[in-house]
Order: sequence, then C-alpha cells, then structure tokens
Amino acid sequence: MYPQDHHTTWFSGQGLWAHVPAEKWQDWRWQLQNRITRIEQLEEYMELTPDERAGCLFASHKLALAITPYFFNLIDRENPDCPVRKQVIPRSGESRISPDELLDPVGEENTMPVEGLVHRYPDRVLFLVTDRCASYCRYCTRSRLVSNAQDYNFHPSYEKGLEYIRSHPEIRDVLLSGGDPLLLSDNRLDHLLGELRAIPHVEFIRIGSRIPVFLPQRITPALADIFRKHGPIWMSIHVNHPNECTQELRQATERLSFAGVPLGNQSVLLKGVNDRPEILRSLVHRLLMMRVRPYYLYQCDLITGSAHLRTDVQKGIDLIRSLRGHTTGYAIPQFVIDAPGGGGKVPLNPDYIKEITDSEIVMRNFEGETYRYPLQPSQVSSEPAPEWATPEQILL
Ligand SMILES: *Cc1c(COP(=O)(O)O)cnc(C)c1O
Ligand code: SF4
Repeated sequence: MYPQDHHTTWFSGQGLWAHVPAEKWQDWRWQLQNRITRIEQLEEYMELTPDERAGCLFASHKLALAITPYFFNLIDRENPDCPVRKQVIPRSGESRISPDELLDPVGEENTMPVEGLVHRYPDRVLFLVTDRCASYCRYCTRSRLVSNAQDYNFHPSYEKGLEYIRSHPEIRDVLLSGGDPLLLSDNRLDHLLGELRAIPHVEFIRIGSRIPVFLPQRITPALADIFRKHGPIWMSIHVNHPNECTQELRQATERLSFAGVPLGNQSVLLKGVNDRPEILRSLVHRLLMMRVRPYYLYQCDLITGSAHLRTDVQKGIDLIRSLRGHTTGYAIPQFVIDAPGGGGKVPLNPDYIKEITDSEIVMRNFEGETYRYPLQPSQVSSEPAPEWATPEQILL
C-alpha cells in the first residue's frame, strides 16, 4: 500500500571533490579545513538565487555560513527548492524578524546557573560545551551564540559546569550539546566523559550531535572506543530529510551502534523540507534501517528570522496522525513544542478520543473507525466461583 523507497539511491561518494585523494576526503580535519564559508566559494560551485545571495550577505550578522564538502554534495544545485539546500544556504527571510520571534526562543538564558549549563528540568542538565558546528543550520535555536556571528563570546568553563553537577545530587542526566560536542578533540571528550562518569549520581549521559550527518568522517574507530570505554553513552543525531541518509551516515551510525551507543533522532519540522507525509515516512523508515530510533519531531522554535521555514502547528499533528498505525510504532517520533520562555518540551498528539461518557471511552482508530472501552473495570464477585480449583487441588 505504501511505496517503499528502494528505488532511490543512498548517495555516497566524493562528487564535486572527486579529484581529492580518498585519504584526504575521509579525514575529518580535511573536511573542516575545506568547508565552504564564503559566498564567493559557493558561487564557484553553483548559481545562487537572488534570495539566497541576499541571505548569504546577511549571514555574517546572524549565524555564520559553513558547509562541509561532504554535505555540500547532497545539495541539488539545479533546484532552489532542494530540501538539503534550504537547511544550510541562507535566505533573505533570515533578516526579517516577526513580532513573536526571540533571540533566545526557549528561554535558556534564564536558567543558566553557570555559563553553558542549562538547568531547566529538576533532574537533568543541558551542558553546552562549544559554540562551533561542522556546518550551520539556518534555523538553529541557538543562533544567538552558535558560530559567534552575533558576538555572544561563549566561553564555557568545563570545570565550573562539572563542579555544579558534582554539587547537585538531584542531577541524574547530563546532555552534552552546543554547538557540536563531537568537534572537541578525542582527548577532551575522553576527559569530559570520564569526569561525568565518575560522579556517582550521574546515571545517564547523552550527546546531541549533528556531526554524523555533516561530518560522518569524524566517527572514527578511536572515537567509538571512547564511547565504549565510558558507556553507556546515548546519542541523539539530527536528520531532517531522507536525502541525508547516505552510505557514509549509515557507516557512522553502525560504528556508533556497535560501540554500544543507542541512537535517537531529533528532526525539526521545516517548511518545504520534511512537511509532507511521504517525505517524513521515508525519513523515519531509513532511520530505522540505520539503527536510529526517531525520538522528537520539533515544531520550529520562534528563532529570529525563521518565519520562512516554520509550518502551521496543525501540520505537525497531522503528520503524526499520518504515521500512527500506518507504520512501525518504533518509527514514530514524539511531536513537541519547546515552549517559548522556558516551559520545556510539550508533547502535541493527534486526538483519538471522540467522547468520554459516564461509562466508556469512545475512540477513533487509525482508520477513523469507532471503538469503545469501559472506563472502570467491571465488578467481580469477591467469592471465588465454586467450580474453581483450590490451590490444594492444583498441588495434588
Ligand atoms: C531538551 C532538553 C533536555 C532533555 O529533554 P528530554 O525530554 O529528557 O530529552 C534537558 N534540558 C533542556 C534545557 C532541554 O532543552
Ligand atoms: S548542528 Fe545543532 S547547534 Fe549546530 S547549527 Fe545545527 S541546530 Fe544549531
């Protein structure tokens, strides 16, 4: 009933950089050194639309432009509507600020006891360990600080962050994010994870990273060993469109998975990128094939200059309805809004309840048909029915 997407290839290869020796291409440092960061470089490879040109010229005031050669190859240079292109090539909409948009859309600054440490939920902290990423997503929630285009001058002190966690026994879950934590050197990560693991009340350590997607070359055997050594380390990656599911990403997720890292995915719902049921379905199926469990689908935060990428809230709810019951339960992410001002993540679900009467709940299933279930367990007699066997009889 649903077409599977085996007809499309899982892109892999050096594309525009076919002349570069394979050892260089596979070296994550080479990928970082050869990122596209200037409009002149972009225009060597592709024709920008006037809207993109204007966006690129504005980018240095908002969030730097950077795209790894690996990820740039995933862009359809002939198609201005390419869903990969929209994520990393700026558009003029970034300079237009609507009244409900904010620099700090989810209110992180109000809950930072130490620079870089967000303590919003009682039992867990978000530990921002860098302001750098391999490439920059034009809709980044932390545009205010990431890439330093707005002169935020983010200088997290790992020691102060660790000290805060050590002295707060209620913190059982630490989420490393940024920027991208996997841009730290192996030594730094080894040290940081070792220090966290040594804190007795820290039960759960996870990393939020888009490195497997932007720079899969970074997922080296040595890095996987660090995760194995300090495990279990969980990881949330960030894939938005099936075209990002390449052979390289699959190799990276397998390597992480075989090192004992359970993988989830966080997507942001973006207009013209992943807001159609068939695209989202293809994405979540590919994620499962890569050993990645879809975790959250985010309504795009009210970040300044993001109106051109945001969708109606109802669309996200309808998309979830298009998945539930129609595909594997494991494939379905939780749709959430990170509440503006610092309320945390609020789940939004399609409504399957038609009515709750005095005695029963009337439900709609995934096909729209009506089903009923009694609200209370039915009354049972307290006397065992006489014909039942007693325990003694059973033993005989
Ligand atoms: C998202 C987030 C977390 C983690 O939330 P989970 O629902 O546990 O994944 C923790 N702290 C902050 C500030 C967050 O934004
Ligand atoms: S990878 Fe994450 S932190 Fe970096 S720009 Fe993208 S959304 Fe922002």
